[in-house]
Amino acid sequence: MSSYDLAVTGGRVWTDSGFVDGLDVLVSGETIAEVVPTGSASLGSAEVIDASGRVVIPGVIDTHSHHRDPGFTHKEDITSASRAAAAGGVTVTVGMPNVDPPTTTAALFEKLLEDFRGRSVVDYNHNPSPTNLGEIPGLAALGCLGFKLFMVVDGKRSYPHMPGLGIHDHSDIAKILEQTRDTGRPLMVHPNDQALLELIEHRHWDADLMGPEPYSKAEWMFDGVVWNSAVATLIEIQRGIGGKLHVLHMMSDRTVELIRRAKADGQDVTAEVNAFALFLANWDEVAHLGPYALGRCLKDEWRAALWAGIADGTIDVLGTDHAPHTFEEKKSGWENMWATPTGTPQLQHYVIKLLDASHRGLITLEDVVRITSVEPARRFGLAPRKGVIAPGSDADLVVVDYDREHTLGDEPVYSKAGYNPYTDETVKGFLDATVLRGRVVARDGFVTAEPGYGQQAKPVSAM
Ligand SMILES: [Zn+2]
Repeated sequence: MSSYDLAVTGGRVWTDSGFVDGLDVLVSGETIAEVVPTGSASLGSAEVIDASGRVVIPGVIDTHSHHRDPGFTHKEDITSASRAAAAGGVTVTVGMPNVDPPTTTAALFEKLLEDFRGRSVVDYNHNPSPTNLGEIPGLAALGCLGFKLFMVVDGKRSYPHMPGLGIHDHSDIAKILEQTRDTGRPLMVHPNDQALLELIEHRHWDADLMGPEPYSKAEWMFDGVVWNSAVATLIEIQRGIGGKLHVLHMMSDRTVELIRRAKADGQDVTAEVNAFALFLANWDEVAHLGPYALGRCLKDEWRAALWAGIADGTIDVLGTDHAPHTFEEKKSGWENMWATPTGTPQLQHYVIKLLDASHRGLITLEDVVRITSVEPARRFGLAPRKGVIAPGSDADLVVVDYDREHTLGDEPVYSKAGYNPYTDETVKGFLDATVLRGRVVARDGFVTAEPGYGQQAKPVSAM
């Protein structure tokens, strides 16, 4: 008779063939031993989580988060971000290189992984910057999941898009893609046509259009050309060079259409949408929250294209773009958004927002799982160790009370940003427990594990 350490019993469980009612997920140590019909195996002395009436999904993998550590730890640090992750159902969080010093060399990446050790509640990795061509193979050898390239540099502020990391020259992008192609790892790119952005910026500044409202709609000028032309360029460069291209920040209808066509042409291109684009980038939120919502405002037809792109599989991954700044730092945005850092905290609440969106018919629950776990794991080489609920996989699970209605705002806010843009919203979908490698790391929105439990989530599969 086998013995198990943990049994998550009686739930509606995500499997390779979709959701199946009435399964027990049996865990030995850190991995899933068996997934069997409820009651068909003896649980012995296992700790039991009764998941009857609950939905059990794979631990969520966020491949795009700004941990701010090192360099900007008054905004966030590894521990605070990882706590927000655990509370929000996220079992793997992946940082971005716009820290200080920026992660541009193997030595700096190694140092950063050292920083993570002992300080993260959940499993982690970090996508370094590929701006130093000679460093790319060494970075891959250290087990990064992918690389992060910014095509943007900020105008009236020095952060978050700092000089040095932004690459605009197409030949430089081509050379980077040649190198990342040879590592087999995806190149994730923040698409932006810097010259067109600067034209639009100067038109706003010259007309003294500085507040959150004109800022939020700046890229409506020329109908999203800042995003669209960059995505078109990236797709053409990928067509010529090959390699794995992962385009971030789907914003407009045209960008979704360009990705759709590239996929139809058989190109190795995937796309990411962000939580803020789906939930905060609308006029009501910007008018109400101003700098605390921004980001950007999307035209209604752009947002509709994002939901449609999720539904037909054009969009593969939801990245939080968790981008915390303190409440105080955001305040100046009411006067001058161009000089105020953009981005919002997302890690703790985006899964709940997606569950709520599925109740409202915007997305299926199956697609929530696909874009938050299955595809991130597949694209970044974590599958089949993560992103699946099957024997042999890490026991990373989220137990969801799918129909439970609750109002956000009473729970602790783990991000150092100190605020939750969704406070006071009543939503449907509650996270009972987050399980990482067989251990409950959060229950009912409260973190129960200590920093140091998290490990580096390295690529395990050919991508
Ligand atoms: Zn970002």
